[in-house]
Amino acid sequence: MKGKSIVTKELVVISGKGGTGKTSIVASFAALAEKVVLADCDVDAADLHLVLGPRTIKREDFSGGSRARIMSGHCTACGKCEEVCRFDAISYDGPGNGKVETTYRIDPIACEGCGVCDYFCPENAIEFAPAVNGKWFVSETRCGPMVHARLGVAEENSGKLVTLVRTQAKKIAEEQRQDLVLIDGAPGIGCPVVASITGADLVLVVTEPTLSGLHDLQRVSDLTKHFGIETLVCINKSDLNEDLASEIETQTRQRGLRMAGRVRYDRVVTEAQIKKKSVVEYAKNGVATDIKQLWAEVSDAISRLDSRPAESPS
Ligand code: SF4
Ligand code: SF4
Repeated sequence: MKGKSIVTKELVVISGKGGTGKTSIVASFAALAEKVVLADCDVDAADLHLVLGPRTIKREDFSGGSRARIMSGHCTACGKCEEVCRFDAISYDGPGNGKVETTYRIDPIACEGCGVCDYFCPENAIEFAPAVNGKWFVSETRCGPMVHARLGVAEENSGKLVTLVRTQAKKIAEEQRQDLVLIDGAPGIGCPVVASITGADLVLVVTEPTLSGLHDLQRVSDLTKHFGIETLVCINKSDLNEDLASEIETQTRQRGLRMAGRVRYDRVVTEAQIKKKSVVEYAKNGVATDIKQLWAEVSDAISRLDSRPAESPS
C-alpha cells in the first residue's frame, strides 16, 4: 500500500545580526520538535553543533568555484596576465624554467577565478582547478540528523554553501519522510541569508529590544516581504527594554507580520550552553516556558501553512 505523501516544510530562523540568541532558540526548537532534520546555514559562524554534539557520518569537500594556476614550465614571463588581472592576484615571483629566470605566480586567495588571464595568455600556461573552499557534514544528533558546514578562512561563496546545506537537509528529510527541516539561517541581509530563505515556507525573525534590533527587523522584514515568505517575529531578551520591545511589536503589526512571542533574559541560557544542552533540556521554568510557548505558536503557524501538493518528479 502506498503511504500518505509528505510535504516537507522548511522553517528558517534568522536575525538581522549575530548574537541575538537565534541559535539557542533553534537548539530548543530541535529538542521540542518530534521529528526534524536540522540545517545549520550560519556557515561563517556555525555553532549549533556545540549544543547538539553531533556524530559525523559523512564529510565532503565544498568547492564554490575554480582558481587559476600558472604552469611555470610553460610561462614565458610576458606579463600579459598580470596586466589584465583586475584583482591584483598575479605577481612576478614564480619559479624559473629553462627559458626565463622568473615566471609569474597567482595568489590562490586573491584569485576570483574570473578566467581573464587564461583568455589572454599566449602560451596556454594557465590552468583551472576546482578550489576547495570548505567542508560540509551530515551528522547524527540526539534531536535528529543535521547537515552543517565549515567555510575555509577568508573564503567567500558562503551563499553557495548555504544552498548546498539546505538542499542536502531537504533531501534527507524527504528520504526519511520527515515533514520539517529546521534551518538556523545566516545572519544579516546579504547573499547567505538570501540563500537561507529563498523558497522557504516560514521565517522566524529573532530580534532584541535595541535600536539596532529594531533597525535590523525593518531590513530583514523587507527581505522576507520581497520573497513573499510568511514571517513571524520573536523578541529575545524582551525585558531588557520594555519601550523598545513595545515599539518592535507595533512595527511588526504595521508591517503585516505576526508576533510569535517574547523570550525573557535569563542567565540560564548561558549555563545551558556551557553544559552543551538546549535551554528547554536544561531548565523547566522561566525562559524555558517562554521558548515552549514560542514553539507552540510557530508549530501552529507551520500546521496552518497551505498544504501543497508534493512536487512531481521532473
Ligand atoms: S600571460 Fe601566460 S606566458 Fe605570459 S606571464 Fe602570464 S602565464 Fe606567463
Ligand atoms: S582568474 Fe581572474 S582573478 Fe584569477 S588570476 Fe586570473 S585574471 Fe586574476
